[in-house]
Amino acid sequence: MSRDISIYVHIPFCERKCLYCDFLSFGAGKEQIDGYFDALLKEIKTASKVYKDRVVQTVFFGGGTPSFPEGKKICDTLRAIKTEFTLSPECEVSIEVNPASAIYDKLVSFKEAGFNRLSIGAQSLNDEELKKLGRLHDSRMFFETFENARRAGFDNINIDVMSALPDQSLSSYMETLKKVVDLGPEHISAYSLIIEDGTPFYDMDLKLPDEDTDRAMYHETKRYLNEHDYHRYEISNYARDVSAENAGDGPFYGTYECAHNKVYWQRGNYLGLGLGAASMVDNVRWSNTRDMSRYVESASDMSALRENLEKLSLQSQMEEFMFLGLRLVSGVSTERFKQLFSQDITDVYGDVIEMYVKSGHLEIASVNSVGGLASTTYLRLTDAGLDVSNTIMADFLL
Ligand code: SF4
Repeated sequence: MSRDISIYVHIPFCERKCLYCDFLSFGAGKEQIDGYFDALLKEIKTASKVYKDRVVQTVFFGGGTPSFPEGKKICDTLRAIKTEFTLSPECEVSIEVNPASAIYDKLVSFKEAGFNRLSIGAQSLNDEELKKLGRLHDSRMFFETFENARRAGFDNINIDVMSALPDQSLSSYMETLKKVVDLGPEHISAYSLIIEDGTPFYDMDLKLPDEDTDRAMYHETKRYLNEHDYHRYEISNYARDVSAENAGDGPFYGTYECAHNKVYWQRGNYLGLGLGAASMVDNVRWSNTRDMSRYVESASDMSALRENLEKLSLQSQMEEFMFLGLRLVSGVSTERFKQLFSQDITDVYGDVIEMYVKSGHLEIASVNSVGGLASTTYLRLTDAGLDVSNTIMADFLL
């Protein structure tokens, strides 16, 4: 079993709820926020005793809006994690920020506390579109945030953009994408909007782009970003490579791909801290309570905090290995499958692999290791396969 672990910290506060949002987030006053951070520190201390022999490879503060509470609360939380856990010297430490609250001084304090990767939720750079989403920021605030982030010393920045927004045309989407690329961030996440039940958008009469426009946005994203040196490494995620001269002393081996998200797709161990945070360690999955008062009361008592504890069966592990791993452009290693499950991948998935290889949606590739001494066989989706990945992945359920 791997001794590596990743840590996710959930900050569930937002100044105002966006109209499409179904994340666990809400507004709160100073007292509730203070109480939450006190509880978070208790959870960090308790959890670190259980995982003291693990080496933390990535830390990710997500939300909600981690840039909304007082910066000191966030920095103290990261410092506590650094004190209580063992972080690898190359640890990637990310934080999501919202342009409406990520003021310069806060960004400087984040950098000083040890965050080395910033993820900015731009979503669109068209002010009308931002208003319709119920976002608090406009494009001017986003540009200011990006400039401030660079000034604060962040040299690994992700920008989130969204397509298929209400009343969005292909040309307005491409305008956003071009402006984002012109800034030269190291990483771009490009998702299309999904209208979730329970959000205000679900009950609104929205004029969404038709399916052809939606597909055109998806294909143009891939084409335009590839043309501008962003390689796609996951269905919706693109990264630049690290050139020799800007490698600096950062923990980024040849690429700015997000190491933390790759842990999810490659089924590494991750520990979720905070309200509602999900964890999976050594094939046991659970999530923290979503009830704030219970979280604050039980933060030092892991058995009271954790819900839906499930030891994953071998079958579920194999299914996850396939449908999460195939999201990555590099695919899944057939040797790794054998190592983990003591069976050949073809013994379990022979028929479905054969069917999709024949149809041109899957391919088998031999990839040389660094130094070229050994090669590993990968099963990966082709471009055509990635375009219809949901259908294909469903066929890997046993
Ligand atoms: S900022 Fe993010 S988490 Fe907060 S309400 Fe908007 S979409 Fe949801």
